[in-house]
Amino acid sequence: MPVTGLEPYDDQNVFAKILRGEIPNKTVYEDEHVLAFHDIAPQAPVHVLVIPKGAYVSARDFAARAPHAEIGGFWRAVGQVAAMLGLEADGYRLLANHGMNAGQEVPHFHVHIFGGGPLGPMISAKR
Ligand code: AMP
Repeated sequence: MPVTGLEPYDDQNVFAKILRGEIPNKTVYEDEHVLAFHDIAPQAPVHVLVIPKGAYVSARDFAARAPHAEIGGFWRAVGQVAAMLGLEADGYRLLANHGMNAGQEVPHFHVHIFGGGPLGPMISAKR
């Protein structure tokens, strides 16, 4: 089911289950605010997801409701994870899907980090 980005938080979503330890993940980084782990279906040589530990449906929800420390901690961690993965020198892409048009599948806010090789055009959808 595509996510609209506006629904209330569903604590049965797959990332909520990962945070509770009910589903395994390949963790690359964890701190008080975030968990970062390899995407189960990588779309680039390196494809890692960074998620806040708090319950937020979308980027908008995160920006509107998360405490400043959590927002700051999240974005600091995104940069740290990219650096840890060795992506700084050659570059990488950050992406956050929001709602139906973007095809958001998991209704827990997350940022994709893509890297490890040339990533092609920014989007492929026809205009
Ligand atoms: P999005 O379309 O932005 O909601 O992206 C959701 C991402 O989560 C997709 O790239 C999926 O491959 C990924 N995903 C779904 N389930 C898992 C899982 N159990 N572990 C790691 N990644 C997952």
